[in-house]
Amino acid sequence: METTYIQTEDGETKVEWWPEEKFRNRATEIFTPSSYDRIPVPDNLIICDFCNEDIVEFPVPVLWGTHAVCPKCLERVSKK
Ligand SMILES: [Zn+2]
Repeated sequence: METTYIQTEDGETKVEWWPEEKFRNRATEIFTPSSYDRIPVPDNLIICDFCNEDIVEFPVPVLWGTHAVCPKCLERVSKK
């Protein structure tokens, strides 16, 4: 997996480029004081955390460890 760095408002930010395999077997975890739920996320459902667009190109840039972003938003958060 490739790792690059971009400059954003928060300074230098790591971008991990995730291949399609890395998005398999994901789940959303929901905790409440009395329960714990793990809701599987379909393997082919990859959505930009900023604009909610479907992401269909690989590898996918992932910011801050877990936030997939589309190429457009990656461009937008990058400081020129
Ligand atoms: Zn986006």
